[in-house]
Amino acid sequence: MHTVYLKKGKEESLKRFHPWVFSGAIHHIDGEVEEGEVVRVVTAEGQFIAVGHYQIGSIAVRVLSFEDEAIGENFWLRRLTVAYDMRRAIGVADNPLNNTYRLVHGEGDNLPGLVIDVYGKTAVVQAHSVGMHCCRHEVARALSEVMKGVVENIYYKSETTLPYKAELGQENGFILGGSPDNVAMENGLNFHVDWLKGQKTGFFVDQRENRALLERYSKGRSVLNMFCYTGGFSFYAMRGGAKLVHSVDSSAKAIDLTNKNVELNFPGDSRHTAYAEDAFKFLDRMGDQYDLIILDPPAFAKHKDALRNALQGYRKLNAKAFEKIKPGGILFTFSCSQVVTKDNFRTAVFTAAAMSGRSVRILHQLTQPADHPVNIYHPEGEYLKGLVLYVE
Ligand code: SAH
Repeated sequence: MHTVYLKKGKEESLKRFHPWVFSGAIHHIDGEVEEGEVVRVVTAEGQFIAVGHYQIGSIAVRVLSFEDEAIGENFWLRRLTVAYDMRRAIGVADNPLNNTYRLVHGEGDNLPGLVIDVYGKTAVVQAHSVGMHCCRHEVARALSEVMKGVVENIYYKSETTLPYKAELGQENGFILGGSPDNVAMENGLNFHVDWLKGQKTGFFVDQRENRALLERYSKGRSVLNMFCYTGGFSFYAMRGGAKLVHSVDSSAKAIDLTNKNVELNFPGDSRHTAYAEDAFKFLDRMGDQYDLIILDPPAFAKHKDALRNALQGYRKLNAKAFEKIKPGGILFTFSCSQVVTKDNFRTAVFTAAAMSGRSVRILHQLTQPADHPVNIYHPEGEYLKGLVLYVE
């Protein structure tokens, strides 16, 4: 195993358990290290600090452990057991009404670069680092052991999440099992998951609690679910007693999925209509008939340099919703861009509200659910932000 020597004094953040080593903090490495290898990190004086995956880029090592231990079978079993115990403790696993949850949330579960979502009997494993890609079979073995009797299929889906320069020739596919059954359940509602081609791991698991909150506000309302993807918010609104629900997404495939999912839960229910259309165009055309609007757009900024444009995007989108929503309406508005802070987002929405001149109150400030935990030593892990607003 290669050793990474830090520059003098560069161990401070690691001593506070921050799980990244930046390339600028490295003095030298004892030999030729390959991307994805497990390395030991030591101070300039040679004192042990951490073990982690080496990668090429500004984050050079992602820490797996601050103990001087082997990253082998026992390590994976232990980490996954802790993760699973936590999901049972918070009630998302082992729950007859819910079999959809995030089992591993990267740094939040002390496994940087790894995401695992569970959909009933199938777990979808996603690597965001070459290191985790290299460990995928060990992870899968430990996962099937820890979740024996629960998870029977493991689908590996990292085609779009790995650095393309690493040229791993990565393909998506089952590592274990391979069931065609793809219906999962969230809070008693069913939906199809498209592991093969769907976005992320197939479903946006992170909106579960925010959808449940929406259900409470849906009774008798006309709901617009903008950027609906698989229609998650729509079926909660229907169960909550909405008068009508319109789901909009620019992707025809997303609209197909939404229609299928609505049919699965509310067959033949005429309250729902789905539109494959651009959000802005739709708001201009149809926007003024709703008193409950959800705006859950894709990440407008994936990198820091796109921040300005992203904030402008949030401003424009929210301004349009404020302009259109009926008096007494409720707006659920979100940002899932990691680089957009809570304050950035709030300022963008505040500016949009001011542009409309309407009286707006904040009812709730939302974030990601408990199965997407934030490691307290890694505040960067907080990414989902939402506001629920009452618009007079
Ligand atoms: N709210 C969803 C997740 C939204 S993901 C859920 O709860 O699961 C973002 C979605 O926005 C994607 O499905 C994407 O197809 C859609 N999208 C991107 N740009 C769009 C645009 N200009 N107009 C409408 N939809 C758009």
